[in-house]
Amino acid sequence: MSLFNNQVLQVALPLPLRRLFDYLYLEPTSDTQESNKPQQGQRVIVPFGRQTLVGVVIKVTDKSEYPIEKLKPIKALIENESSFNTQQLNLLHWAADYYKHPIGEVFASALPGILRENKTIAQLAPQALVLSDDKSVDEQLSKNATQLHKLLTLLKQGTYTRPELTSADIKSTSIKRFVDEGWASWQAMPANVKEVTPDDISGQLSLNTEQAIAVSAINSSSASSNVSSCFLLDGVTGSGKTEVYLQAIEHVLLKQQQVLVCVPEIGLTPQTISRFKQRFNLDVELWHSGMTDKQRFNTWYKARNGQAKIVIATRSGVFLPFSKLGMIVIDEEHDASFKQQEGFKYHCRSLALYRAKLANVPVILGSATPSLETLQNALVGKFHHLELKSRAAGSQLPTMKLLDLNQCRVDSGIGEPLLEKIKQCLAAKQQVMLFINRRGFAPVLMCEECRWLTECSRCSSFTTFHKSKNLLICHHCGDQQPTIHQCKGCGSTRLSTVGVGTEQLHLALQAAIPDYPVIRLDRDSTSKKGEFDAILEQINKGEPSIIVGTQMVAKGHHFPNVSLVGIVDVDGSLFSSDFRAPEKLAQLIVQVSGRAGRGSVKGEVWLQTKFPEHPVIQDLVNNKYSDFASFALTEREMLSLPPYSYQALIRAEATNEQYASHWLQSISPHLNQFNDLLVLGPSPAPMTKKAGKFRHMLTIQCKSRPYLHKVVDWLIENLDSVQKDNRIRWSIDIDPLDL
Ligand code: ADP
Ligand code: ZN
Ligand code: ZN
Repeated sequence: MSLFNNQVLQVALPLPLRRLFDYLYLEPTSDTQESNKPQQGQRVIVPFGRQTLVGVVIKVTDKSEYPIEKLKPIKALIENESSFNTQQLNLLHWAADYYKHPIGEVFASALPGILRENKTIAQLAPQALVLSDDKSVDEQLSKNATQLHKLLTLLKQGTYTRPELTSADIKSTSIKRFVDEGWASWQAMPANVKEVTPDDISGQLSLNTEQAIAVSAINSSSASSNVSSCFLLDGVTGSGKTEVYLQAIEHVLLKQQQVLVCVPEIGLTPQTISRFKQRFNLDVELWHSGMTDKQRFNTWYKARNGQAKIVIATRSGVFLPFSKLGMIVIDEEHDASFKQQEGFKYHCRSLALYRAKLANVPVILGSATPSLETLQNALVGKFHHLELKSRAAGSQLPTMKLLDLNQCRVDSGIGEPLLEKIKQCLAAKQQVMLFINRRGFAPVLMCEECRWLTECSRCSSFTTFHKSKNLLICHHCGDQQPTIHQCKGCGSTRLSTVGVGTEQLHLALQAAIPDYPVIRLDRDSTSKKGEFDAILEQINKGEPSIIVGTQMVAKGHHFPNVSLVGIVDVDGSLFSSDFRAPEKLAQLIVQVSGRAGRGSVKGEVWLQTKFPEHPVIQDLVNNKYSDFASFALTEREMLSLPPYSYQALIRAEATNEQYASHWLQSISPHLNQFNDLLVLGPSPAPMTKKAGKFRHMLTIQCKSRPYLHKVVDWLIENLDSVQKDNRIRWSIDIDPLDL
């Protein structure tokens, strides 16, 4: 068959297969159909077995490894434009290659959900109400129809989306009237790219010296378009990092460019968002998983047409189609939620660095507790190191105290001296925050007779007792069972709780200190819509109260009246097998501590432990995070651990206990052909059984990143041919963070 005018399209399909699929593109012959040349990044509908899939054209060529006559033609091009710009295409190719992930899944994950279906961008575009050319509307409106006149005045100034009209107090009946009469119609929103002027920006604080140095360093790099730069903004909690971002962003906006701001979890920091919106009277959009498909599409659309000046996003925002990206900010860059743990296991920071390089724009990585990877890059001069060493608003950093739990009475997890201190603070009309890393009432129930513990039948873990719901819940697989009242081992009814969770702490404090409100902030107390905002509002009133919470309390909040922070239990993470455990613990302690004393009263942090001599604890109480970090880096260097080496993790899981470990064992010998590799394992995953699957892992470590990637490429190419086993599911994690 001659190709004549027809072409071969190499298409990425959303399948877990590391390859592209060839299809034929038959040029339309009839004159009625407009000739539509396929191009890279365009979405196509193709037949796949009995299914029909939406794919992305990766390459247009005239050759195929397969006989041309065997290729199936595509069903249709969805539209006449590419869904990705060149920068995105380059980023996604790099990401698929770097993370060794199937390219079709990589491309699919970079599209908003509704574009993974057969719908055109034009169809989905936000609709705006546009005034018709008919000049007689004025005359047709009766004089006292004030609502209609108001709408007319607005529409004479521009076009508006329905939410914009609603917030301008226009009634939907007025809109309907305009549409019914033909005075206006809904049309795909034209790109409303406003020129940014200094008038759009207000409320800048005057910077202190450290901030001013940081801002001018960043601005001078973004002024010269040929230098791409990465900045570590290493500033203690409350040092005014956000003000530095805001003023650096201002500079970029005035160059008529867009800014991406990545944050760990948007829902948790409404204060940050409102600070951005207050500063910039511009289109600030959000991007996160709590939004509807339609909302996400709108953000995607406005990033693409340039209307969105700032997008505040969680990790997948790094894929957004900015037309004029001018800067990327990653706030709390150390946060583990920037790494996607399932499926396509990318790290937002790594992708952001690559994207910024493609766009030739600066990146700011901000944190009070930078990751050791980032610090190391700053130390060797790859990143500019900007430091903010003191708090901006004049408040001092809190003092740290150790409470040795071996030396005092402990009730429901709280040592007696801490309880006294809490009472003092409340009496002085201040707020107290207690951090405990566990939801529920108690992490496990135990039989007093035979020491049997309640455990999940699907995971190698215990089940948490939730008293108010009267359930035993597995926090790993979500399984819920009614609470039992009899031991499953010996039948005894003498069951007791072991350990403490937020629920118990809450109840115990209410009983011990009945005169003050105790507010619980965790995933259970904020599961319903509006609950989180209501709790924040209550805390923000600043009235004396106790806030009991999980990680949620640690993240970036600014509660000026909190003067005492109690860290109830850290001992569990002191003896972890994960080499990153001390780093994570140090970050958590410093972040939680950072909530103390942000107002006028100096803060105090109490750290409860049964191991007061532990080096990590000693380091954090007596020294700063930077001291801890430089010590930890020395240790990593001695042991050749990341960031002084690079890792890839092969995970395998199966329903049978033996299969996965046997399979990994059979791979190890193949790695012997490579020199300079350290192969660790196979070993059981820290939680070997999860949701009914037995999980094992093999770590490959190497001092050279390119060499490690070569080895992994070899493995992927050969794994299925050398060691095919359909009972196993395996995956690869490049630069793994969690084991
Ligand atoms: P970080 O993000 O480093 O934790 P924030 O940006 O939240 O710190 O700043 C902490 C507090 O200091 C905020 O209330 C902020 O308004 C204030 N602040 C920041 N910079 C200045 C400044 N230059 N002058 C006065 N107050 C400032
Ligand atoms: Zn479970
Ligand atoms: Zn028992």
